[in-house]
Amino acid sequence: QPGQRKKWVVGNWKMHGRLADNEALLRALASGAGACSGIRVGVCVPTPYLAQVEAALSGTPFAWGVQDVSAYTHGAYTGEVAAEMTLEFGATLAIVGHSERRAYHGEHSELVAAKAQRALQAGLTPIVCVGETLEERESGATQAVVGAQIDALLAKLSVDETARVVIAYEPVWAIGTGRTATTDQAQEVHAFLRARLLGKHAVLASVPLLYGGSVKPENAAALFSQADIDGGLIGGASLKSQDFLAICAAA
Ligand code: PGA
Repeated sequence: QPGQRKKWVVGNWKMHGRLADNEALLRALASGAGACSGIRVGVCVPTPYLAQVEAALSGTPFAWGVQDVSAYTHGAYTGEVAAEMTLEFGATLAIVGHSERRAYHGEHSELVAAKAQRALQAGLTPIVCVGETLEERESGATQAVVGAQIDALLAKLSVDETARVVIAYEPVWAIGTGRTATTDQAQEVHAFLRARLLGKHAVLASVPLLYGGSVKPENAAALFSQADIDGGLIGGASLKSQDFLAICAAA
């Protein structure tokens, strides 16, 4: 039932930011935290800025985290960042399997599941992204694609582990394009994902399902009022404090 699950709003800064710009944005978020009462809210930032974000957001309602995490604990993995390293900066969130990583860094669903499991083992909440391309949608393959992405997760994680993940449905054609999925299109896929999770175990009804893809202050309330949409993963609009706080207020 909607209402039993808390709403979530998480910002995905992607590869944006500089110390000075971040400082202004973080200060505005901290002082606008009143928009976030009753919801779970966070920002996923470029890893070098974790210490800055920890200093700015400690004691506020905002959680923070990273946009990717290694599937390994430690060792000879040049360029990787371990979940435990992010914990030292107070991180609690990690996006995994974003479509940009799937597309540009060759991440397949089995690796994404391994990263989600590693994040969970370290105590982070993974935000696992799924979503179809425009070509896949137009050929009627949306459910097959996101179904397979979810199944890979369910194959790797125990039910207890899966109950601790957050899932973000992000249609690739809606990311950064200004072309948001309609509320019906988004709700339809969310209902499908909810059913897929329920098919595995009843406790998975409580897994938060976020929508992402050109969420803006103007469309947030309509999206978040859908029965199976538990909030949003926000890219471009998370870089503007006013927009991000307006989206939080809509949740
Ligand atoms: P967008 O990005 O809000 O800029 O479309 C969403 C995302 O990729 O997480």
